[in-house]
Amino acid sequence: MVLRKPATVRRRQGLDSTGMTGSRKLYVKSFGCQMNVYDSQRMADTLAPEGYVETGSADDADLIILNTCHIREKAAEKVYSELGRMRRLKEAAKAEGRDVRIAVAGCVAQAEGEEIIRRAPAVDLVVGSQNYHRLPDLLARAARDGKAVDTEFPLDDKFDHLVAPSAAATRARGVAAFVTVQEGCDKFCTFCVVPYTRGAEISRPVQKIVDEVARLVDAGVREITLIGQNVNAYHGEAPLGRIWSLGTLLRHLADIPGIVRLRYSTSHPRDVDETLIEAHRDLAALMPFVHLPVQSGSDRILAVMNRKHTADDYRRVIDRFREARQDIAFSSDFIVGFPGESEEEFAATLALVMQIGYAGAYSFKYSPRPGTPAADMRETVSAAEMDERLVRLQELIDSQQSAFNKAMIGNTVDVLFERAARNPGQIVGRTAYLQPAHVFASPDIIGQVLPVTIASLERYSLLGELAGAATRSVASTHSTMTRSSQETNPSQEIGA
Ligand code: SAM
Ligand code: SF4
Repeated sequence: MVLRKPATVRRRQGLDSTGMTGSRKLYVKSFGCQMNVYDSQRMADTLAPEGYVETGSADDADLIILNTCHIREKAAEKVYSELGRMRRLKEAAKAEGRDVRIAVAGCVAQAEGEEIIRRAPAVDLVVGSQNYHRLPDLLARAARDGKAVDTEFPLDDKFDHLVAPSAAATRARGVAAFVTVQEGCDKFCTFCVVPYTRGAEISRPVQKIVDEVARLVDAGVREITLIGQNVNAYHGEAPLGRIWSLGTLLRHLADIPGIVRLRYSTSHPRDVDETLIEAHRDLAALMPFVHLPVQSGSDRILAVMNRKHTADDYRRVIDRFREARQDIAFSSDFIVGFPGESEEEFAATLALVMQIGYAGAYSFKYSPRPGTPAADMRETVSAAEMDERLVRLQELIDSQQSAFNKAMIGNTVDVLFERAARNPGQIVGRTAYLQPAHVFASPDIIGQVLPVTIASLERYSLLGELAGAATRSVASTHSTMTRSSQETNPSQEIGA
């Protein structure tokens, strides 16, 4: 039992949950997927009424939260090397008389619990992915008892307890925002930890999503990406006791005044239904870019992975999208070196990639995850073979991505402008296909969708001019492009 004054009383008295006064600095580092980025923002929102203000650097933080990813071994191990750095910061702060607390949140926290404190004793607090709404209580517990661990799957819905960000905090995060609509997974692919770390599939009720989207749009957000581990398995409670699919939800959200772009990620091929296809056919706001992971082109491997679809099922789904919207493009995830994958089976993956033609894709070497069925499969693929297959697959995907990007040159495309670029005078935005696009223009265009005539491509970044605008010549700016072209795609995994 934690005895604390109610939050409203504490706020009036300027106290946080540990009874301390004044504002404190919070540094949250996200690893892994977009769901973690969203969760990190919600953690910051939950701690804001406690007097925590976000800082961009761990060096001056009073509370450091690492929001972790467990999807592959490398991602999980990265957390421990980062914890080594945080321990040194904590010790340096202590020598100056400053108390720093370290929390580990997210999927590594969920999977490893107290083990984290055993391996990294500088950690004060471990909080699982379903419990971060309890952070204020857990901080109080850690202040009182020294350590706190909470990795239960609570019956209460964490979304009901989350604090909405202020309009100012929302604006500071930019014109594009994520909204979680679905969480967890019931599919149990044999390689994947998500059903164990995120739990069973749940969908948020429609009204809560609509309210959250309306609040974001009021604060100036123009693009919403609906996210979920299996976002198109969405089946949320709607008015009149109905259950809505993702397609129906998108159709409804597209009507909210102020929304100019809608996206969703990540989809499973088996859950693509007619309402989603029709949404792509009918909704101008729904961007024609779909992340649809397939993992492998071999039916035998797909069956052992328990994906519950064949390569032909996947091709048919792609065809349905393409019939509904001709300018649609796709990205995907692939795993190479799944246990027992033969050279012929890998060749089937290459053949599928050739057939589909992707605008980009993520590819990973298979990483055995403790507790998953595939981790017990004996027929492993050698590290050298995995490396070699990954290189071949990535070369093919890179060539398709670069052909897709080059095809933009000379075209005029819509860009939603997001922020000032690193190069002075440039503003960067995204095309419908999430390609970064740079123009020289006034910052007034941030938040607007404007047509841009694409002049050139530097790695993954497009450079152009506002269509019809008298802007500086593209040729004269070319040499300054290299640095900003390194800016990453937000759909890419971060920190992993
Ligand atoms: N729900 C999505 C789906 O089924 O397509 C995928 C979500 S998962 C968080 C993101 C990607 O990580 C997967 O698509 C898969 O390619 C990769 N992944 C998951 N487990 C992996 C493992 N054990 N080894 C390598 N890659 C893995
Ligand atoms: Fe993991 Fe996606 Fe399979 Fe679910 S559907 S188990 S999240 S890979």
